[in-house]
Amino acid sequence: MQLMAIKIRNTPTISGRAALARLRDGNRRFVADVRSKDTLPSRARRIELTAGQEPFAAILGCSDSRVPVEIVFDQGLGDLFVIRVAGNIVAPSQIGSVEFAAEQFGTRLVVVLGHSNCGAIQATLEQLQQPKENQSRNLHAIVDLVRPSVENLLATDLKHDLDELVHQAVRANIKASVNHLRHGSEIIEYLIQKDGLLVVGAEYSLETGEVDFFEDAALV
Ligand SMILES: [Zn+2]
Repeated sequence: MQLMAIKIRNTPTISGRAALARLRDGNRRFVADVRSKDTLPSRARRIELTAGQEPFAAILGCSDSRVPVEIVFDQGLGDLFVIRVAGNIVAPSQIGSVEFAAEQFGTRLVVVLGHSNCGAIQATLEQLQQPKENQSRNLHAIVDLVRPSVENLLATDLKHDLDELVHQAVRANIKASVNHLRHGSEIIEYLIQKDGLLVVGAEYSLETGEVDFFEDAALV
């Protein structure tokens, strides 16, 4: 078994559960319009971090300018290992980034953070309904990764209710990314089974600022 060869280079500083609680607290502060003084960037903290980093969570979020990860979770320098890509999709480089955080820094929480009215999801739905022939190959690569989780929805009555269709598609895409990451590599599977790594899915609401952790490992 190759799994036996996996050596974890770092011990977790805080558990996945504790990390999740910290993110929930930070998002509550953000929604309430209060900020923790501890998370304000400072010269002292910057210097302190030159010695190394121990981000307590890894977040795979969307590139959307309205969902800046550190801000919506009220976190500071060195707190979060952030991967952002349109549509919070999972390709090998995202899996590699998550492996890196978990292995090198002992990060034991991974959150896939999608959001309401995601443009990448809307573009995919549009492309499925009215394919554009001149779509760029690179954009196509994103649409292709979103497509499997949303195209079934287009075969249902949801196609008559655009808002609900996008809402369900956003969640389906988050779930697909969570599943993909959970089974994305031997290292990640090993850490989930043996070392308490949590991979959860959440949706950020542009309207309320709230993050709903609707796809939680504890519920699976
Ligand atoms: Zn988006």
